[in-house]
Amino acid sequence: ENPCPHRMSSEPPLDLLSLTPEALGAALGEYFAARRQPSYRAAQVKRWVYEGLVPSIDDMTDLPVSERVALKEHFTLSEPEEARVEISSDGTVKHLWRLSDGELIESVLIPTDKRTTLCISSQAGCAMGCTFCATGWGGFDRQLTSGEIVSQYRASRRWVKEHDQAPITNIVYMGMGEPLSNRQAVHASLSILNTGYGVGARRITVSTVGVVPGILELAARPEQFRLALSLHAPHTDLRASLIPLEKRYPLPEVLDALREFEQAGGQRITFEYTMIRDVNDDPMLIPALADLAREVRAFVNLIPFNPIPNQDWKPSSPSRIREFAEGLKSRGVEAAVRETRGRDIDAACGQLRAHTLVQIDRGTPT
Ligand code: SAH
Ligand code: SF4
Repeated sequence: ENPCPHRMSSEPPLDLLSLTPEALGAALGEYFAARRQPSYRAAQVKRWVYEGLVPSIDDMTDLPVSERVALKEHFTLSEPEEARVEISSDGTVKHLWRLSDGELIESVLIPTDKRTTLCISSQAGCAMGCTFCATGWGGFDRQLTSGEIVSQYRASRRWVKEHDQAPITNIVYMGMGEPLSNRQAVHASLSILNTGYGVGARRITVSTVGVVPGILELAARPEQFRLALSLHAPHTDLRASLIPLEKRYPLPEVLDALREFEQAGGQRITFEYTMIRDVNDDPMLIPALADLAREVRAFVNLIPFNPIPNQDWKPSSPSRIREFAEGLKSRGVEAAVRETRGRDIDAACGQLRAHTLVQIDRGTPT
């Protein structure tokens, strides 16, 4: 006997975390109706997903055991395994998560006085190959599902609570991967985090290296998610030497897309500018950088380059970084110097995973 006539047994189970709250409500409503269960069962499951944050269907204790067993035949619940956790002396917490197929991804918790930001991954690896990025050097493994993206937030929220840390207030898609190269899952995850878990759109930032169609899609959304562009150079030639995607979507096209985002009533755009000594930190670049920022009223984050394996580049000197900040401010552009957080735990993009993979290759237990 098939308890659920709407789902063929050959269909793969649905991940409870992958669906938007409306779609999940509909799927569960249909499922429990077919099982002749009371209609409040769907609300019970949704509460465990969005509020109870339980790691597995077995923990949904107000469902009869028989219903939990049956639910597991039709639904899964993405729960990453904690492969490693490292806590920096500055309070930054880095998680290396192992997904169900063994793939490793990272998320980072960054507490400050005013907020705690969670940095999440959108892909396992990244295909963009930016020359300054450890994830880029590692190559692309696979897309994450929306449930796997959301599961980093859920597991981190649980971790924060268990360790008496301040709650997560902000989310940035600045972990591994290019979020706008995984648009379907990323768009779904934005909706789920926003409406399912109640994280305000203005507290969620998508960081992109400049995937133009993805920026336009984000501009078309009614919510006011924030956008960060990883700029790193104000001229096409220099930018192309750091970011291969520049050849496909050159800066002028990216700027047009940003203008559209801005005009659609989007939130303030951020430019990320990683400062690499003698590569992109010539003070002659300041006027062009200021012009770009003024064009789309962007806020500029200056970030000291975090050294990576395979690369002998160094961060710009603190005085050079200050010179950029002051040069931008004197040209009417808001700018901030971002501390590199978690330096002692390899908290830059892709680094913990890179080191762990090296250790696994060498047969060292992790
Ligand atoms: N793919 C997206 C989001 C992930 S990278 C993007 O590129 O925007 C998140 C940020 O980390 C980007 O701004 C990226 O440029 C920056 N980054 C990568 N490697 C870095 C390094 N070694 N030092 C400092 N910043 C780095
Ligand atoms: Fe990918 Fe972003 Fe790293 Fe570039 S900087 S390789 S887009 S993760």
